[in-house]
Amino acid sequence: MTYRGRFAPSPTGPLHFGSLVSALASWLDARAHRGAWLVRIEDIDGPRTVPGAAESILSTLERFGMHADEPPVWQSRRMPRYQQALEQLKSTGLIYPCGCTRKEIADSLLHAHARNTTLAYPGTCRTGLHGKPARAWRLRVPDGDAAVITFQDRWQGRQTQNLATEVGDFVLRRADDQWAYQLAVVVDDADDHITHIVRGADLMDSTARQIYLQRCLGAPTPHYLHVPVVMNEHGEKLSKQNGATALDDDQPLDALKAAARHLGLDLTTTTSGPNTAETLESFYPAATAAWAKRMGIRE
Ligand code: GLU
Repeated sequence: MTYRGRFAPSPTGPLHFGSLVSALASWLDARAHRGAWLVRIEDIDGPRTVPGAAESILSTLERFGMHADEPPVWQSRRMPRYQQALEQLKSTGLIYPCGCTRKEIADSLLHAHARNTTLAYPGTCRTGLHGKPARAWRLRVPDGDAAVITFQDRWQGRQTQNLATEVGDFVLRRADDQWAYQLAVVVDDADDHITHIVRGADLMDSTARQIYLQRCLGAPTPHYLHVPVVMNEHGEKLSKQNGATALDDDQPLDALKAAARHLGLDLTTTTSGPNTAETLESFYPAATAAWAKRMGIRE
């Protein structure tokens, strides 16, 4: 197997400590496997993309010593490919246009909640648009046992999600004419031949959807590893929206050591003896050895 991993930031702001943890974990896993590490800028969500953020993330990664093995992939340049994937799914009848507004879906979920039944999209438009204009495209999820997706997460263990009862038919092309993250990420991971996905546990909930979509598109399923997310003092996921500060490009070592600590890595000993990781040059070999040991990877 030729290992290919990636870090796939959304350019909604500069790199912060939470995203550094995901970047570092994916970098270390690729290096511990002697594989390739790619960077993909997930800039298809027009309204959320901040001008200049992608360039800032790329330059911070460089300053921190995480060099990608191939030029970055920009999702905004791959729109025709997402259209092609949508057409493929259309031709096999796996997707359908949906005319539901947010309010209609929220109302039906509220009713479902009151009846204590499923909180998934109820599939209102499965049987047709009922005179409403088409707004989005949804992927039909299977019923019964086929709806249960199970995978082994390399950090979190065995995971199971029932797509029919927990998610429902999900959106691939949004009502605001944007490509949904789920479609773009699956198409790109397949086209980039990604074998191992290492990212934050906030994306765990998307993984079953992505595995199902891979099957629909005839793409292989990569190995998954979801690292614990970094919380702020209020117990919320650290994000640009709740006050995460940009990393200081001039002080990479302290932030990297803190990220390694968050990943539970012991940098004081390596297979080749004590290593205190006091420079950027000594940090990476020590952290890679510690990651390999923690994850049971034979280097
Ligand atoms: N772009 C996503 C984010 O920044 C990550 C996607 C992924 O790693 O699959 O949250």
